Amino acid sequence: MALIVHKYGGTSMGSTERIRNVARRVAKWHAAGHQMVVVPSAMSGETNRLIALAKEIQPQPDGRELDMIAATGEQVSVGLLAMALKAQGVDAVSYAGWQVPVRTDDAYTKARIESIDDTRVRVDLAAGKVVVITGFQGVDAEGNITTLGRGGSDTSAVAVAAALRAEECLIYTDVDGVYTTDPRIVPEARRLPGITFEEMLEMASLGSKVLQIRSVEFAGKYKVKTRVLSSLTPPDIPLAEEAVSGTLITFEEDKSMEQAVISGIAFNRDEAKITVLNVPDRPGIAYQILGPVADANIDVDMIIQNTGNQGLTDFSFTVHRNEYQKAIEVLEGKVKSGIQAGAIQGDPKIAKVSVVGIGMRSHVGIASLMFRTLSEEGINIQMISTSEIKISVVIEDKYMELAVRALHKAFGLEQA
Ligand code: ASP
Ligand code: MG
Repeated sequence: MALIVHKYGGTSMGSTERIRNVARRVAKWHAAGHQMVVVPSAMSGETNRLIALAKEIQPQPDGRELDMIAATGEQVSVGLLAMALKAQGVDAVSYAGWQVPVRTDDAYTKARIESIDDTRVRVDLAAGKVVVITGFQGVDAEGNITTLGRGGSDTSAVAVAAALRAEECLIYTDVDGVYTTDPRIVPEARRLPGITFEEMLEMASLGSKVLQIRSVEFAGKYKVKTRVLSSLTPPDIPLAEEAVSGTLITFEEDKSMEQAVISGIAFNRDEAKITVLNVPDRPGIAYQILGPVADANIDVDMIIQNTGNQGLTDFSFTVHRNEYQKAIEVLEGKVKSGIQAGAIQGDPKIAKVSVVGIGMRSHVGIASLMFRTLSEEGINIQMISTSEIKISVVIEDKYMELAVRALHKAFGLEQA
């Protein structure tokens, strides 16, 4: 018998019929003798609907009131799921975040979990109840309802699992695990039975949408055994089969998993490139360019600067596409004249493609294989950045799919 946390996404909670199926699945685990805590999302589309309603009244919604509204989707879900469990003869109780409580800071719409009190939950579990806790929401020190940012139910589930020192946190979703890359682009993409937490963190921050990044950070910090698996299998499939399906996020200490050198190829079109041309090559230039960008609260991802000739250099960096215009305005404002730059050039038609793998730490030649593959496809690399376990390149966005396919093949990712 173990303490297990299940998380169900909006699709799984999408209708009363689906909620009954979730209840069947949870009942199966409960019948096997496990203590069960379930963290569901709002019914699919519901959070969007609620936020749209709020914006009809107030286009730039007040954060506190927006959270008050947005958090209700999950409250409906927990009530319905607890009822569905009871209807199947399983004793269950639902809680909103403030009732547990799940304590957060007061950063409305993107609050961070600070602590979770497990007292009440433990009493219910000891009494044999299934405990159903809202995802996405918490309460600040003043008693205001907060939400954790879109996709935040993943983080709620992992945090609850950490607080309860659960044996495992199972994240049921509409894909059956984490893939070597997006199967819509590469049909040969393969589900990974395991991925290390560091790789998962890179994949999540590089554009893979399977888990909210913060949930992965939480899993890493508290060493929560987390598994991503399908909610689309029949709810009554044998538990032994279900329990080992999907993708398990592993920790490096856990050497039981055979590790490939490269685990996956991530990509996104979320960024735009900005180049400041012909800036004087002298100390302080990077700061004079990026300082004002940071002051405008714009995140910078990749940066390159070359030493040019005649004391001039070009300085390029990428920002999120949503902040591209704002960044250009900042630079065209005081910055350009302040540093006597030649011109500011922008290019939103870029894509970032990354190769991720923990094996890079101990294998050489990964970068050269990546660059050779792209060169054989005639794809020009505009920028490069690396970390210990990933290499990212910026290329023209029309070549993104070609690059992903070629790299997937070159690194042999289609083979098990
Ligand atoms: N319901 C919230 C959202 O749509 C949280 C979640 O589903 O994870 O973002
Ligand atoms: Mg989600």
